[in-house]
Amino acid sequence: MATLGNRAHTNAILEKYGFRFQKKFGQNFLIDEMILEDIIDAADITKDDVVVEIGPGIGTMTQYLCEQAGSVLAVEIDTNLIPILSETLAEYDNVEILNEDILKVDLTDYVKAHGNKPLKVVANLPYYITTPIIMGLLESDLPLASITVMVQKEVAERMQEGPGTKDYGALSLAVQYYSKPEIVAIVPKTSFIPQPKVDSAVIRLDIYEQPPVDCKNPKMMFQIIRAAFNQRRKTLMNGLNNAGILPINKENLAEILTGMGLPESVRGEQLTLAQFAALADAVCEHGKNTR
Ligand code: SAM
Repeated sequence: MATLGNRAHTNAILEKYGFRFQKKFGQNFLIDEMILEDIIDAADITKDDVVVEIGPGIGTMTQYLCEQAGSVLAVEIDTNLIPILSETLAEYDNVEILNEDILKVDLTDYVKAHGNKPLKVVANLPYYITTPIIMGLLESDLPLASITVMVQKEVAERMQEGPGTKDYGALSLAVQYYSKPEIVAIVPKTSFIPQPKVDSAVIRLDIYEQPPVDCKNPKMMFQIIRAAFNQRRKTLMNGLNNAGILPINKENLAEILTGMGLPESVRGEQLTLAQFAALADAVCEHGKNTR
C-alpha cells in the first residue's frame, strides 16, 4: 500500500536512514497525497502499461505506480536513496530500480524486454535538468505513449506557448512538434520538502504518432529553431545567417521568406511551427538546387 505521501511518514523514513538532501540533484520530495493522485490519474496508467519513473526519491510516487502499472522502471541517480527504495518498494514485484543518471542511460534493452510497448514516463522531475530530460526523451528513438511530469510552473507554461509571446521558444516548438501538451494541475510549493522557491505544475505530453505538421527535414527545422531563438533579438535572416547552418546564402533566404509571405524583418518568435517546417523544407530544396 502507498504510505509515503505525507510529511510524517516521509520524515520518519528520512530520519531512519539519516538521509541528507542534495541540492545538486534537485531533490524536492512530494508530501501531498492529493497531488500524487492527480499525477497518477493524469498519467492514465493500467496493468497493461510499462512505466518509467525518473528520480523516484524515496519511492513515494513509485508505490502508486507499482499498484497501477504492469511494470515500473525507477531510475535514480542518488546512491544514498537505493537502500531506502529497497525498503519502501519491498512489497512490489513489478519494479526494477536502476541507480543511474537518466541522461546517460539507454533504455532500448528495457523496452525490448517489455515487448517494445510504448512507454509512459512519469516523474516529479529534478528541475535543474528538466529541459535536457524532456528533449532527450522526445528526440530519442524510444517508443513513447506519454510523458506526465511535474516541472516548474513557468516551464510548463512555456511548453504550451504559441508565437508572439515572450516565453515561446525552442522548448515550446519541440514539445508541440512531438506531442500535445496539457497542464493538468498547478501545485503549490508547500506540497514538497524541502520547499522549492517557486510553484510547480503537472503537464501531460501525449506523444503523436504523426507530427501535426508535415516536415521532410526535421533535423534542419530544429537547427533553424535553435539558431532563431539563440539570437532572439535579431531578425530571423541575421540570426540564421550568423549561425552558419544553412546550405544557401542570405539572398536565397530572403527570397524564401518573401515567397512564404514573410517580411525580411521577421523574427523567429513570430513563426508558427508550420512555418518553421515549411522554411526548413524550402531551405533544403533550394540548397539542393543551388549546389
Ligand atoms: N519522485 C520523488 C518525489 O516526488 O518525491 C523525488 C522527486 S525529486 C524532485 C527529483 C529526483 O530525481 C530525486 O530523487 C533526485 O535524486 C533524482 N535525480 C536527479 N538527477 C537525476 C538524474 N540525472 N537521473 C536520475 N535521477 C535524478
